Amino acid sequence: MSQRKNILILGSTGNLGRQSLDILKSLPEYRVVGLTTNDNVFELQKQIKIFKPDFVVIADQEAGSRFKAGEHRVYIGEEWLSKAIEREKIDCVFNALSGVVGIESTLAAIRARKQILMANKESLVAAGEIIMKEAKRCGVEILPVDSEHSAIFQCLIGEEIEEVDEIILTCSGGYRGGEKNPQIDSLLKKSKWKMGRKITVDSATLMNKGLEVIEAQVLFGLLAKKIEVVIHPEAIVHSMVRFKDGSIKAQLGPTDMRLPILYALAYPERKGVPGKELSFSNLILNFKKPNIKKFPCLIFAYQAAKIGGTMPAVLVAADEIAVEYYLKNKIRLQDVPKIIKKLWMGTGINTGISSIPA
Ligand code: MG
Repeated sequence: MSQRKNILILGSTGNLGRQSLDILKSLPEYRVVGLTTNDNVFELQKQIKIFKPDFVVIADQEAGSRFKAGEHRVYIGEEWLSKAIEREKIDCVFNALSGVVGIESTLAAIRARKQILMANKESLVAAGEIIMKEAKRCGVEILPVDSEHSAIFQCLIGEEIEEVDEIILTCSGGYRGGEKNPQIDSLLKKSKWKMGRKITVDSATLMNKGLEVIEAQVLFGLLAKKIEVVIHPEAIVHSMVRFKDGSIKAQLGPTDMRLPILYALAYPERKGVPGKELSFSNLILNFKKPNIKKFPCLIFAYQAAKIGGTMPAVLVAADEIAVEYYLKNKIRLQDVPKIIKKLWMGTGINTGISSIPA
């Protein structure tokens, strides 16, 4: 075996972090050298026992003070989410942080010339221009982990971006249940993908898909008007690319986040599948246009992508606030787009969304 790759998992106690560690158990070519958490010290201790990292980072000061150190170095404080990247011996960074807190770490990893496996979509959306510019300057490769973007990445292998006519992002369809005021537990139960709380709310409002339109614009350098969203309730086709000659490539697979994680970790090779195989017997695939009247967040995102500059960052921030209100039971799910619109309009910038009913 060639030399093992030292990997740091940013946000290892979150949903994606835990799934990536699950995959890493079967990839001996990697050594997990660093784990980080915001405040989930309990889960971190369990992970330390299994993976025996060289160091850990606990972003939250109070949680850090409760932590019992062992054989590893311990860094306490949010600034170490990027500082540790400069100090420690790392080849590869898996960024599974949630929210814009991931921007600093992404830039630190790029500047330290580490390979990046990117599962932190908010940082790509809010600071995409800066991140891609730095990645180009430093010659760093950013591998997408988001299932749709992994699908597009796979469809584009061996192709030229100039020959792409359109990217088609699939979407499981937003909240369709009949409850008047659905609670987070009910959303988590109904979700096709196993995901964290914030992204589950974003999926219900279609803001997640909107952010993914901007993420695709950033990663693949295509204008948002060339990125279409299609509802596909079965979540089997993970996304598609239409080329100039009318030919379409799609990537299909079981609805399991561990597959795009495995793809990014094994890239450019392919490794054994950990989940069940997709069966074609009785497989029916449906596609339809999204109802944008019902899900205005999608329009907000297209508008932010069109305006560019700091506008996607404003959108991400407004969404983080609105989702937090919902998770704290202060507003209903249907109020999320209303709050985003209000916060956005409050900036005084002409966003072109005043006429969109929310
Ligand atoms: Mg996704």
